[in-house]
Amino acid sequence: MTGKVWFVGAGPGAPDLITVRGARLLAEAGAILYTGSLVAETVLQWATPQCEIADSKTMALAEVTAWLLDRAQRHAVVVRLQTGDPTLYGVVAELARPLDAAGIPVGIVSGVSSAMAAAAAAGECLTLPELTQTVIFTRLSERTAMPAGESFVSLAAHGCTLCIFLSIERIEAVVAQLLEAGWAATAAVVIVHKATWPDEVVLRGTLNDIAAQCRAANIDRQALIVVSPALGARFRPSNTTSKLYDAAFPRRFRSTT
Ligand code: SAH
Repeated sequence: MTGKVWFVGAGPGAPDLITVRGARLLAEAGAILYTGSLVAETVLQWATPQCEIADSKTMALAEVTAWLLDRAQRHAVVVRLQTGDPTLYGVVAELARPLDAAGIPVGIVSGVSSAMAAAAAAGECLTLPELTQTVIFTRLSERTAMPAGESFVSLAAHGCTLCIFLSIERIEAVVAQLLEAGWAATAAVVIVHKATWPDEVVLRGTLNDIAAQCRAANIDRQALIVVSPALGARFRPSNTTSKLYDAAFPRRFRSTT
């Protein structure tokens, strides 16, 4: 038999933040491979007791692919459970290529990205009328070189919201490059460690003090860094309400006359 391999977004951590479709696939799966270091094991509560569950924490990419190829010969539904949304920093293309080559059908199920979960945990919005209408998902370059035109400083210079993944261990470099890009030392920063996990931590600060806060709180992994002109706006008096709610703004479904 040839089964189908599903790349399922587990969401950020809380087991009830997986999608209904994702939870249904876990319940149908004959085999599930998850990343123990990143995916909360509580999400596996949606699997059946007879399902084969394995942790890929110590597996190389080729071993993950071999596991998925092998299990797809034996089960109709095989799940690769990914943290957050599988399409962001999830190596799905690399993992799917050999499956495609072997003629094994592949599907992707969206998940709640940690970028969204971090904003929600902090009670913040990533866009706000007249402050910022653009969100950039990015990271500091390290082992993964940044493609031409995507240097962190050039992206940060836009001044819009930045959701910065995979970079908390280099928070000092993040701060230095934000300053270099023109952000003020007093600009607000939010850091969310393990968003929606029981031990979630939300830090609020400025570029001046956020690195020291991270060190004091021992946060050097699994955290999302958000900088945005919209941070804290909810707590400031505002005369900028969304034009969507402005009676003079012509809308597609409601005439203003
Ligand atoms: N596909 C995932 C991202 C995987 S890359 C997503 O959509 O969220 C791993 C990085 O994601 C981590 O370095 C961290 O920056 C972020 N991350 C993943 N889970 C997180 C969580 N629960 N809280 C905060 N950041 C998280």
